[in-house]
Amino acid sequence: AIVAMILFMITSDSSTVLVQPSMVVQSFQFLVAMLVMDTWQYFVHRYMHQNKFLYQHIHSQHHRLIVPYAIGALYNHPLEGLLLDTLGGAMSFLVSALVPK
Ligand SMILES: [Zn+2]
Repeated sequence: AIVAMILFMITSDSSTVLVQPSMVVQSFQFLVAMLVMDTWQYFVHRYMHQNKFLYQHIHSQHHRLIVPYAIGALYNHPLEGLLLDTLGGAMSFLVSALVPK
């Protein structure tokens, strides 16, 4: 939540009236955001498996979950959550230039 608040403060300009882009532009921005997020998560996740130290001390917690369910993807070490989910989300938001409002 703190990262999201910082991003919104950085990207929002309260001195001007914000105009929403068209639905076509917003759809494209959303696709770009998904592409950035998925690419980031794929390669960081892959690196966490290749680097034995990171796997043993951080990523292995994610694979302790035995029963697979969708929300289980977020069961991870706090540092991994920050790196994968929070940083990945922030990057996809900034790269896609999505509007915060
Ligand atoms: Zn893994």
